[in-house]
Amino acid sequence: MKIALIAHDKKKDDLLKFIRLHLEFFKDHELFATGTTGTRIIEHTGLEVNRCKSGPLGGDQEIGAMVANGAIDTIIFFRDPLTAQPHEPDVSALLRLSDVYDVPLATNEGTASAVLHYLNYKDRA
Ligand code: PGA
Repeated sequence: MKIALIAHDKKKDDLLKFIRLHLEFFKDHELFATGTTGTRIIEHTGLEVNRCKSGPLGGDQEIGAMVANGAIDTIIFFRDPLTAQPHEPDVSALLRLSDVYDVPLATNEGTASAVLHYLNYKDRA
């Protein structure tokens, strides 16, 4: 399964913690990430990650294009709801494309946990 991982700056530590908690799961999948998120994941987990550009420089749109082309199955995007983002239009576009193509997208840890449970279940079904 191809999974995209993105976290806004104030949520990056939370995403790293989440990935470390579910390391065995993430080891079995092909990972993609926006630039800085990807670098942090590689440094802190040793996982292989295909890095796109940084989010504010077009990385969210790159992932959106992959969604449109059927190249991403799931997105985990830890958003920061309390900080204005200069690339908010790109973030909205990615959320929109995930709805257009019915790609599961988790924007917080609770939903991400639920999505992981679902994917594990689906793998075994
Ligand atoms: P980043 O981008 O991983 O390069 O920080 C994430 C984002 O802000 O969309």
